[in-house]
Amino acid sequence: MTALSREDCIALDQADPLAPLREDFSLPQNMIYLDGNSLGAQPKASLLRAQQLITQEWGQDLITSWNKAGWFEMPSRLGNLLAPLIGAEQGEVVVTDSTSINLFKAIAAALQIQAQSTDHANRRVIVTERSNFPTDIYMAEGIMRWLDRGYRLQLIDSPEELETAINDDTALVMLTHVNYRSGYLHDMEAVTKLTHQRGALCIWDLAHSAGAVEVQLNQAQADFAVGCCYKYLNGGPGAPAFVWVPRRHQEQFNHPLSGWWGHAAPFAMAPSFTATVGIRRALCGTQPIVSLAMVECGLATFGKTSMNNIRKKSLALTDLFIALVEAQCAHHPVSLVTPREHQRRGSQVSFAHPHAYAVVQALIERGVVGDYREPSIMRFGFTPLYTRFVDVWDAAEILRDILDRQDYQIDLKRNAVT
Ligand SMILES: *Cc1c(COP(=O)(O)O)cnc(C)c1O
Repeated sequence: MTALSREDCIALDQADPLAPLREDFSLPQNMIYLDGNSLGAQPKASLLRAQQLITQEWGQDLITSWNKAGWFEMPSRLGNLLAPLIGAEQGEVVVTDSTSINLFKAIAAALQIQAQSTDHANRRVIVTERSNFPTDIYMAEGIMRWLDRGYRLQLIDSPEELETAINDDTALVMLTHVNYRSGYLHDMEAVTKLTHQRGALCIWDLAHSAGAVEVQLNQAQADFAVGCCYKYLNGGPGAPAFVWVPRRHQEQFNHPLSGWWGHAAPFAMAPSFTATVGIRRALCGTQPIVSLAMVECGLATFGKTSMNNIRKKSLALTDLFIALVEAQCAHHPVSLVTPREHQRRGSQVSFAHPHAYAVVQALIERGVVGDYREPSIMRFGFTPLYTRFVDVWDAAEILRDILDRQDYQIDLKRNAVT
């Protein structure tokens, strides 16, 4: 049993230096939101910002806002705001397009760098994990099919396989830093080093890392990275994503989505494409300005603290949830999927349960919003900017109550179908 009581959790909140940041968010009453890793909460500032943008910048200033309101520079300006959260330099990140599309650009550019090198031109394998988020795998498949040059995927089933999977045939290693299902956190520096020793390039997907765990892209000498702004960064539903290209690779970053926003002189309207110098060559076309403005509201809260503080609280929250569930639900078939080791754990906790789907539905009905992931996984995301220790206590207590009373509806039809 954990020695902590609900009162202890309230005391932890009172002593928490991040506690005031919860005020930045509009959260529903009577809901414990443990799904910020899927869709982050709404920053209060975003409502006013949207109103200002729509009524003034769009409504009154119209086309002059591209310059006057800084719309044109938004992808790179926001990229610079995001850079410190992921260990990137200024001028190395743009906020633009979706994670899937940014992956397309990064994979295509990386394969081309390899294909044009003298030593690695014949490498044809992309290594990734079978448990990677599907779109990452699908985007790689799409590029390989379209290139039609004999590229193939090698799907590994555990991180230990990387050591043998990456070899002389590997062009590219593409990994999601924190696994969306298990919460496993890769050792970015060690894996990147191994990748480079074997002559391959490495793309990191930071969808479940940016704003959740400390990331040092440059220190790890990573090659490329992409990530999501609507999860831990609270940029709003469908918010534009980001792509990181370190300075050392920017000149060679030639992706095939060569739209006019990546042109050296976009307003010269030249009949042929010349890529601009710098990170803006990762752009394609006109950006969704209203959505970009929402990303800025999400990033603003991060300016009030540090990733180090966020990570400390994240580990404390996830430690607490693991301890409480394991103590209180020990007599139920609940098993921890997420690594116990801090160095290997993201900012979520996943538990397997034979009736995970039904239990998650019951939790949602009782106001505890986590989510279900195939197969049999209950997934809970902890967002240190607005999740309280007392929320962790209450969520574990409600889970225990549901399991003790078997207060969930097993949908037999659903089980028969899947
Ligand atoms: C959430 C997530 C995505 C989302 O991609 P979209 O293009 O925004 O749909 C991609 N990859 C990973 C690993 C994710 O977790």
